[in-house]
Amino acid sequence: MRIPFIAANWKMYKTVGETVAYLKTFTELVANVADTEIVVAPPFTSLYAAAEMAKRTNVGIAAQDLHWEREGAFTSGVSATMIKETGAGYAIVGHSERRRVFGDTDEAVNKKTLAALAADLTPIVCVGETLEERDGGQMLAVLDRQVKDGLKGLAPEQVASLVIAYEPVWAIGTGRNATPAQAGEAHAYIRARVGEWWGAEAAGQVHILYGGSVKPDNTKDLMALPDVDGALVGGASLDPQSFARIVAAARA
Ligand code: PEP
Repeated sequence: MRIPFIAANWKMYKTVGETVAYLKTFTELVANVADTEIVVAPPFTSLYAAAEMAKRTNVGIAAQDLHWEREGAFTSGVSATMIKETGAGYAIVGHSERRRVFGDTDEAVNKKTLAALAADLTPIVCVGETLEERDGGQMLAVLDRQVKDGLKGLAPEQVASLVIAYEPVWAIGTGRNATPAQAGEAHAYIRARVGEWWGAEAAGQVHILYGGSVKPDNTKDLMALPDVDGALVGGASLDPQSFARIVAAARA
């Protein structure tokens, strides 16, 4: 049984003070939600404060990225061990903005995923095609490559335990979300491929989230799709009321 999984990606928004104010409101709004995994990913600077605030609540905290090395001369890098020690339990890996702006390759995504798992962080691995790739008929090949190479070397139990986020790049921050048919097709395809490569049990257990202009009013239709287990939400997660409405809609 896969319970709904709803995650907020704040990107480069919110200071420590803003993080604390948000979580004070948000944890109260979702305090009675028992059957949904709720995760918030603030910037690195807010991780410790967020994890302290989320202690003894039903909200988990994620980093938005990590470095695969444990420590070393990697200026600006933050390791999985460092993230784990803040109290966070998850790490987003391979977000399209990391891939596009910072040049993260599938190989980097793979190293980061392995490092997160080794530190007992749950990776939220993002995949998704650009508009050019979709229009060029490359969507399935891109998903194949990103899933296969990004999760290379993982055992079936590890794949079962992690989260994949399908985020078509053309739908992120554009207000243009995938239709239920488009999302349904991609999610079913990813789950089938996980089944081929890591077995039916891993395919049945892995959570696959949809991301791309998710809002309170389109959450329910997306969540109704059999292979959509939740959402990774950017813009609409920045306001605690709006994100709480998405959590509520996911369970409606
Ligand atoms: C994201 O950045 O992961 C995302 C899905 O953003 P938005 O919801 O703003 O499209």
